[in-house]
Amino acid sequence: MATLRDQRLSDFVVADASNLPVVPPDRWIVLVDDNRPVSAIAPATRLDPARPVPAIIVAPADLDVDAALASEAFAEAADVSAVVLVDGGTVVGVWGGPSLANAAAQRPARGAPGSVLPGTPTIPVIVRSCTFTDGGTICATASSFPGKPFPMPACPNARHLSAHDFHW
Ligand SMILES: [Zn+2]
Repeated sequence: MATLRDQRLSDFVVADASNLPVVPPDRWIVLVDDNRPVSAIAPATRLDPARPVPAIIVAPADLDVDAALASEAFAEAADVSAVVLVDGGTVVGVWGGPSLANAAAQRPARGAPGSVLPGTPTIPVIVRSCTFTDGGTICATASSFPGKPFPMPACPNARHLSAHDFHW
């Protein structure tokens, strides 16, 4: 069976999210906060600190690719910069670009619940940064979700702005 690890992965480096790096021209940067991936920046991308960093999907590297594509998180695949593959808490791969876009386009229209194999220990999650702004300051608190929630939960609000629900 083909796993996520078997897809066309890209070169990447890991950097701390608190210290926005200069993005190299030839590889991705995976931003981590306390060792948790929070975003992935495509090669040669200009970062705007006033904007939220791109959303990602985080998934176990050994997850079956069909199970991944059928998961609720992959319903948002068109809205993320990349799928960040993890193995035991370590970032081991970045799946993005046309290869991911093609796979996501062939995703079944409805990912039926139960199409993910029972016993799969972990599922893909969407990691997004909150886009709420208050007095010109963006919240940018990263949260992870198994799928797009409705209604939105309260935001953890790491920068202590006025209380708000998570802004997708
Ligand atoms: Zn927020």
